[in-house]
Amino acid sequence: MSHAAPFNYRNAKLNCESAQLDFIAREFGTPCYVYSRAALVAAFAEFDTAFAGRDHLVCYAVKANSNLAILNLFAGLGSGFDIVSSGELHRVLKAGGDPGKVVFSGVGKRPDEMRAALAAAILCFNVESAAELKVLNQVARDMNKIAPVSLRVNPDVDAKTHPYISTGLKENKFGIPFEEAETVYVSAQSLTNIRVTGLDCHIGSQLTELDPFIAACGKMLGLLDRLEARGLRIGHLDLGGGLGISYSRETPPLAREYVAALSGCVGRRKQRILIEPGRAMVGNAGLLLTRVEYLKHTPHRDFAIVDAAMNDLMRPALYDAYHEILPVIAANADNAIPYQVVGPVCETGDFLGHDRNLALSEGDLLAIMSAGAYGMSMSSNYNTRPRAAEVMVDGDQCHLIRERESLEQLTAQERILPARIPG
Ligand SMILES: *Cc1c(COP(=O)(O)O)cnc(C)c1O
Repeated sequence: MSHAAPFNYRNAKLNCESAQLDFIAREFGTPCYVYSRAALVAAFAEFDTAFAGRDHLVCYAVKANSNLAILNLFAGLGSGFDIVSSGELHRVLKAGGDPGKVVFSGVGKRPDEMRAALAAAILCFNVESAAELKVLNQVARDMNKIAPVSLRVNPDVDAKTHPYISTGLKENKFGIPFEEAETVYVSAQSLTNIRVTGLDCHIGSQLTELDPFIAACGKMLGLLDRLEARGLRIGHLDLGGGLGISYSRETPPLAREYVAALSGCVGRRKQRILIEPGRAMVGNAGLLLTRVEYLKHTPHRDFAIVDAAMNDLMRPALYDAYHEILPVIAANADNAIPYQVVGPVCETGDFLGHDRNLALSEGDLLAIMSAGAYGMSMSSNYNTRPRAAEVMVDGDQCHLIRERESLEQLTAQERILPARIPG
């Protein structure tokens, strides 16, 4: 099965691999995330095999979708992981991931998170400031360990993506300014419990062109040469994640084109290449299944009120992101009218799509496409809505990989005050 098309109509019914989505909705309820195992495997393989003979490690960015079944699947394929918290480290270990293939990114790592990662013996800390470097050195010294480190350098390259997901411009909070990187590397080398092992950057997310990646890679290679000239040994070059996917009409490079371009840029240098793809590994392997609750026709607008909302899929509310919306049972398009597809949450920002031409009846099922990345992992319980179920399809088999939350689970951590003692 090609990962470009894990979701297909057969006899006018939308399928995931060989499973009908209307059956999945009946069995597991809605809203429900549905993932294709074959699409996940194919996405990893496309990145991994494109490196051909080159020493490399694909580190899946866990924050895109951190379900244990997905992490376990990638771990089994030999994937490494890019984590941004000790919570994500916990998930990777629980899913059977190899800590020796974990890189730890993020601007605000706490000492307790550093301790957990040092105890697990991760591959590398991607350090984002001189201050963090000092704390890491101290934590490692207290544990009598040596912390392997890359500095995340901000190459000041315009990723030409949404401003909220652009990270490689000098005004962003991420990384160490390019001009300061050499100085920080030199000071890193003098710290007793730090071992410099690599060089890292990550310039943003949902990039649909190769140019910014190549520009960043070129700047990193210039820096790498200068560091080596100063006697530093840089064993790996981590070029981050950020490859975009097609939500509607975008035409991002294929994973193999992206890898070939990076590989060409690095040329004959011997460093191991790391990449940290998130969205491109899972985004088009998943959808969000939802049911139309009510149709509401006003003089100005026609609303389809569905049972999924911004708490389930935040991207439209957060970035004004576009997700294609397909009927699970194909309907006669002659009756289509432009609908505002909205959720039940009390926010005007709670929409999943504007002006979508659909022929709908109450009770119909809709598929919100390309929802595998930054869908479930960004979900919340706003409006005390239990989080959705998640199902992974493998051929005609449907596996529940996360139960729908119960109301009891939602309140289990909360406590009311004790009775006040009078006087
Ligand atoms: C979010 C993130 C990624 C993954 O980005 P995608 O756009 O999902 O590929 C990789 N590396 C770092 C440091 C990140 O913060």
